Amino acid sequence: MPDLIYDNHGRPITYLRLAVTDRCNLRCFYCMPAEGIRYLPKKELLTYEEMLRMVSLMAEMGVSKVRITGGEPFIRRELMYFLRQLSQIKGIRDINITTNGVLTTEHVPELKQLGIRSVNLSLDTFDAERFKEITRRDEFDKVRDCFEQLMAHKIPTKINAVVMEGKNTEDIVPLSELSRDYPVDVRFIEEMPFNGEGSHYPVLVWTHRKILEKLKECYPDIQKAKDPVHSTAYNYLIPGHQGAVGIIAAFSRTFCGSCNRIRVTAQGTLKTCLYDEGVLDIRQLLRSGASHEEIKAALKNAFSHRPKDGFEAEKSRQSLHPASESMSTIGG
Ligand code: SAM
Ligand code: SF4
Repeated sequence: MPDLIYDNHGRPITYLRLAVTDRCNLRCFYCMPAEGIRYLPKKELLTYEEMLRMVSLMAEMGVSKVRITGGEPFIRRELMYFLRQLSQIKGIRDINITTNGVLTTEHVPELKQLGIRSVNLSLDTFDAERFKEITRRDEFDKVRDCFEQLMAHKIPTKINAVVMEGKNTEDIVPLSELSRDYPVDVRFIEEMPFNGEGSHYPVLVWTHRKILEKLKECYPDIQKAKDPVHSTAYNYLIPGHQGAVGIIAAFSRTFCGSCNRIRVTAQGTLKTCLYDEGVLDIRQLLRSGASHEEIKAALKNAFSHRPKDGFEAEKSRQSLHPASESMSTIGG
């Protein structure tokens, strides 16, 4: 096992979130404007071969966990080919996927076969009409099928729901009930301003505190669970439920102190914090003929200049201030 690389705040870098595309088949209210975003020309996206080389180098530097995200990962052609190759990389022990589920169902058996560690299914409501309103697409049935298929194949699954004032707060309890009926964790996420337009509200209403109040109101016996070391969620157990319920304070940024993750966008930009505007152009390095050692040195340099937290990262942005790009280009 390679030695771990620590950032300038003593945090190990072990987890890569890789966006394989910026394209999407939904238009979630919190992620994109109704008309969508301007997609990158295809030649600006990293190729699978480039991604595989980059991940191999990162694995040699101690990265052992990868999350495939996007845009919608299953929109990218031959994603399963890429996952097969990725699962062969020495040192990558933990591959996870975040998906909206619309095109995922048919691939679930192979995901199981490949040993994909877990799937995060983004689902903000179990009500077909509200789903249509939030995602601006009529695809709920396909996402429900995907959920059922994941359960049938016993793939560890987490439901991610962004909580939005006036859109789906009535879904907090029905979604939590899924963790009673199925062995699934349900996580409620504070809405961030990454929607391609800027903040939807002068002040965020549905903060992690307010979400917890709502849960306590409905489940007075809810108990705090022990959180895994690098968890971004505060996890809770409800007596009688098979799965946990979690709250991710993504806007309040309470978890930065133990952050072990880096992100690479679909065009190959390294972000060492969700809130920074990109700190290294990996695509340029990969395409300029840089050696393995040169690329690793550039990565190491970026890891040793990480902001302490999301607030510091946001302050140091040069162009987009405050953060407002679409999450589909960042990967969540
Ligand atoms: N398309 C896939 C999906 O929706 O699961 C993967 C990409 S999506 C950008 C990754 C995650 O980011 C999703 O779980 C989504 O809910 C979350 N997300 C997107 N925009 C967000 C926002 N403005 N605030 C909080 N979470 C957001
Ligand atoms: Fe697409 Fe995921 Fe963004 Fe929704 S959250 S628009 S599914 S990338």
